[in-house]
Amino acid sequence: MKKEISAKRFRISKPLLAGVIAAITLIVVLTAVLLSACRKDDLPSATDTTPIYEMTLSYEGGRTLSLRQDVLYFNTTGETLSEIKFHLYPNAFSESAENKPYLPEEKETFFYNGESFGRINVLSAKTDRSTAEFSVYGDGGQILEVPCKLNDGDSVTVSLECEIVLPECRARFGIAPDSVNLTGFYPALCIYENGAWREDVYCAVGDPFYSEIASFYVTLNKPTSMKVAASGTVTATSDASVEIVAENVRDFGMCLSDKYSLLSADFLLNGKTVKVNYFSLSDQNAQETLALAVRAVETFSSAFGDYPYPAFTIAQAEMCAGGMEYGSFVTVNPVTSSRAAYEQTVVHETAHQWWFGAVGSDQINSPWLDEGLTEFSTALFYLLNGDEKTYDEIVSSSAEYYRRYQSLPAAIGFDPSMNRPLYGYVAAGEYVAVTYMKGLLLFDTLMTLAGKDRFLSCMQAYYSANRFGIATQENLEAVFSTGNLNLGGIIRGYTNGTAVI
Ligand SMILES: [Zn+2]
Repeated sequence: MKKEISAKRFRISKPLLAGVIAAITLIVVLTAVLLSACRKDDLPSATDTTPIYEMTLSYEGGRTLSLRQDVLYFNTTGETLSEIKFHLYPNAFSESAENKPYLPEEKETFFYNGESFGRINVLSAKTDRSTAEFSVYGDGGQILEVPCKLNDGDSVTVSLECEIVLPECRARFGIAPDSVNLTGFYPALCIYENGAWREDVYCAVGDPFYSEIASFYVTLNKPTSMKVAASGTVTATSDASVEIVAENVRDFGMCLSDKYSLLSADFLLNGKTVKVNYFSLSDQNAQETLALAVRAVETFSSAFGDYPYPAFTIAQAEMCAGGMEYGSFVTVNPVTSSRAAYEQTVVHETAHQWWFGAVGSDQINSPWLDEGLTEFSTALFYLLNGDEKTYDEIVSSSAEYYRRYQSLPAAIGFDPSMNRPLYGYVAAGEYVAVTYMKGLLLFDTLMTLAGKDRFLSCMQAYYSANRFGIATQENLEAVFSTGNLNLGGIIRGYTNGTAVI
């Protein structure tokens, strides 16, 4: 996610943008004849135990949808399981949920048409065709438990029928003023680790999601007037339905709107075509935004390792944040304080495709591992495109922001440690300071100490070793502790709060 912090003055320079646009135009012309829709052969492989979601979603407008979902799950836990558990994130938007999906100060912006509630009702559950008793529990009913004895190494298909009710709100899930935001709308597999299913509840601070890579095959029946911006690649379409494939992604998201206008650009990345789609609601500089996104995908591919999917889609959507990341899909809020802030959000969300998307991490307990690295990558984008001044400005404004919190007396509750749950932050500003700003400063320090080339080699090793998996601080320490490099202590000093900045 990208929180808007303050209006910072930096933007990609106009000559650079003009060059990017010219380059895209040339590449589009040169490669047009080679282009096709999704080419399955080109898709990356994760593992043959990657969970598979097959969904049929029917939406006729209004506030309700129906969902039929089959999930093929492979037990790779090393244990015999007695149940499969899913997150029901829509129930965080229900009237009975105690943890609200917004902060008190966001409530007025969140509900643009008065208070409104949403939910997901599970109507039936079957496992490999036999009816299963199931239970729904947790705050507002956020966990679905389907009993199922499953030996290690075995697989099961869980079939669910659900009714979804959308709230009217500016959020990840709901009907926003100009778009229907369908993310976190489906029963999503919990992660099983350390002998238990992770049942983390929704939280207004941060991104309270933690998931493994999966593949999604989605059929959406929809109003004919609505355009669909989604994870993955559209493989078939008609006026009233869309078929989408999104393989090896962290999650599946989409936004629908009858106000979208679409711009696309295809470019070659080491011989493979990548299509970038931009669904705009109101962007007066849409071509520049698209060019910026293409440049960001190219820059991060060169810096860290290739973008791993055949398509990347950006959609404008109003949420109570600058933007939000999903598997090969991101949203950006058209309501923004400045063009510069908007551009930075586009770069930030694009960087999340490497950190969160391909390389997963525990976003509940160690949110700095994706947000800090993503915020740093945003600054790095400018440096790698010849704009050292903007890099320096981002780093110095982050240091200034963080130091304001660091100077607060511990008595009022500020805690500099970085590995703590989202639920433990006393304010959104503290979360931003510790996770985004201090996280960025850690990576800036690592680059200063290792040197830029060595630093990028380490990040390439980190990406390569953890792509499609879930990385931890230990994985990061490992790549910075090779040869004569011994920066693990620096990382620990930042995260445990002993380093003074
Ligand atoms: Zn973010």
